[in-house]
Amino acid sequence: MFQGQSIQVLPITEPGTEGLVELRFDRQGDAINKLDARTVDEFRQAIDVIAAAPGVRGVLVTSAKDVFIVGADITEFGLKFQQEPQQIAAGVRESNAMINRFEDLPIPSVVAINGFALGGGLELALLGALRVMSETAQVGVPEVKLGLFPGFGGTVRLVRVAGLATAFDWVASGRPAKAAQALAAGVVDELAAPGALRDRALALLQSAVRGEVDWAARQQRKRAPLPLAADAVAAELAKALDAARRGAPHQPAAQTALETMAEGASLGRDRAIDLESAAFGRVAKTQAAASLVRAFLNDQAVKKLHKRHAREGRPVARAAVLGAGTMGGGIAFTSALRGVPVRMKDIAQAALEQGLAEADKQLARQVRNGRLKPEKAQAVRAAITVQRDEAGFDEVDCVIEAIVENLDVKRRVLAALEGSVGPGTVIASNTSSLRIDDIAQPLARPENFVGMHFFNPVPVMPLVEVIRGSRTSPQAVSTAVAYAAAMGKVPIVVQDGPGFLVNRILTPYVNAFVQLVADGADFEQVDRAMEAFGWPMGPAYLQDVVGMDVGAHVFDVIAAGYPARIRPVERNAIRTLVAAGRFGQKTGGGFYDYEADPAGKPRKTSSPAARALVAALQTGGARDFTDAEIVERMMLPMLVEAAHALEEGVVATPAELDTAMLLGIGFPAYAGGPLQYADWLGLPQVVALCEKHAAFGPPYQPTARMRAMAAEGARYHR
Ligand code: NAD
Repeated sequence: MFQGQSIQVLPITEPGTEGLVELRFDRQGDAINKLDARTVDEFRQAIDVIAAAPGVRGVLVTSAKDVFIVGADITEFGLKFQQEPQQIAAGVRESNAMINRFEDLPIPSVVAINGFALGGGLELALLGALRVMSETAQVGVPEVKLGLFPGFGGTVRLVRVAGLATAFDWVASGRPAKAAQALAAGVVDELAAPGALRDRALALLQSAVRGEVDWAARQQRKRAPLPLAADAVAAELAKALDAARRGAPHQPAAQTALETMAEGASLGRDRAIDLESAAFGRVAKTQAAASLVRAFLNDQAVKKLHKRHAREGRPVARAAVLGAGTMGGGIAFTSALRGVPVRMKDIAQAALEQGLAEADKQLARQVRNGRLKPEKAQAVRAAITVQRDEAGFDEVDCVIEAIVENLDVKRRVLAALEGSVGPGTVIASNTSSLRIDDIAQPLARPENFVGMHFFNPVPVMPLVEVIRGSRTSPQAVSTAVAYAAAMGKVPIVVQDGPGFLVNRILTPYVNAFVQLVADGADFEQVDRAMEAFGWPMGPAYLQDVVGMDVGAHVFDVIAAGYPARIRPVERNAIRTLVAAGRFGQKTGGGFYDYEADPAGKPRKTSSPAARALVAALQTGGARDFTDAEIVERMMLPMLVEAAHALEEGVVATPAELDTAMLLGIGFPAYAGGPLQYADWLGLPQVVALCEKHAAFGPPYQPTARMRAMAAEGARYHR
């Protein structure tokens, strides 16, 4: 009856199904269905065909893929969202008018949800009168994770189908629901085993056609105002807003969605959808939406690279770790947890015991939380072999070195290690500050040597910088990338150089902080301003958490690598505190004082001692800064350094750079990474701000390319 590239409509031919048609989502040449512009248009055509065909008595909606519909086509958002909010709203309103006609068909419809029905996929399913869901499927509206909310009538229909509390929760959290939960919420009408789904859905359609199910009343309920008093709506809204506000101050989507849903509850469908469309137009233009959509696309691009590396690398079936300390223990645990058995060597028996004890603690916690079955935990534990020699190292595909951060020791240990491993074994160093080329110098097979810079704590932090030395082979890089990805990490390939990528870009930011404080800024205000900007912790607090003895050392090493730009500040608060033995949390005090809270976690309080030490450095006296001035002085050097790193080819693409900064140091998600942030501000504005602060020297000097891009109206992300 209709044959499109994403949708087919065909008569159902089973006995007793006369007059029933099937609308099947089956995107040609793809493994999934998604709701792109073409599919929406074909859906419109399909509705026309169904409405015009004589004798059609009911519609079964199905998918020919493993998923139902995974959601909108996010690659289409960029162009669409460049329009003005009113235009965006008009566009969605038009699509809504089109798809609403399905709900208004004078015949029953049943949707068979066989797999993921997310975002637009669930919104489309909500157009049907009835829904049957496979026991293994999942449904949800994850749009808030992209700084958005459902814009195809989803907020309006969910309220009317599942009630306010559920709709609020689903839309504001973005959490997907499994079948039982969706049934309990009333979002679907029946569940079925995967193999029986179509039959059950068809049977339900037949009984609706026979008038045994009041399908028309269900459709009518979605067109009517919600039968709930205004004060009850207000009370639910207040509760939901409270939770949403706590969640994400820079991400207004959840809050806007909740307010719009509450306002629309007293209206009929079409007016409520108008409200939804208008609000959607506004959130689509927020910084959060732009950045989170960009981050999603970056993530897709990075995953594609991982797949390529997996094809080109040596599969890592067995691995080894040198050093059972903080990092080595975490790496071995993560490898075993992800199914790659690992030999962990340390020269100190105590370190091995400590490493295993830590693994045991983590496993016990996961079993307690129900995230791991006890048998699986045992298997993970059994996959870690501890040893004080290198027995069996000749059988491993990759060894990760995580011993002391000392060039001579690493060189000596790794050169010796080459004799214990096979000729093709990849050796990776987890060094945080040494150059891969320097460590590689005495190696017989430098082509097999690569950096794998994990972040602490390893089981939690997703980023791994994979460092390509000048003699590292492409296969060794690919092996490291694929192994890190198999460990559930997000590896980003970077060139060798002081600070690699993430710490390099962080260093001018730290220096800007020290300079600000020397210039008279109150470091507690700087922390508050940067936390309000969106950082998980301000720069002073970050120093305390990292430990300033280590931090200052890493800073020196990296700064020495970029002498033209990163000049150590005189009257340096970090050095002063280190000299006073105030290293941070680990010594009970740094910029702040710490004491254990009832749960044993360090709680910070203002420290008169630290404040006095810092005040003594402020020879020009304390000075007032606005928060905006603080943010500019802190962030610009980071943007400039990111530009340098990209231009020097430290990382291949803006997508990889921003992904690394989001995952490695918690760059505020709503701002999307330094390059996305520069795009959002606009390069002309970045250059203008740099000029405003030009007196503070090279860290505020835009690169020639930044100036050229500003002049051309160019962006980092297209
Ligand atoms: P750590 O001191 O906790 O552990 C080092 C372990 O290596 C110790 O148990 C030590 O006994 C062992 N060791 C020393 N020489 C050895 C040898 N020849 N063979 C086997 N084991 C040996 O140190 P860490 O914090 O885990 O750091 C290890 C490496 O990771 C360093 O290069 C460090 O720069 C890097 N790194 C650390 C962090 C961090 O936050 N701690 C983050 C990223 C990278």
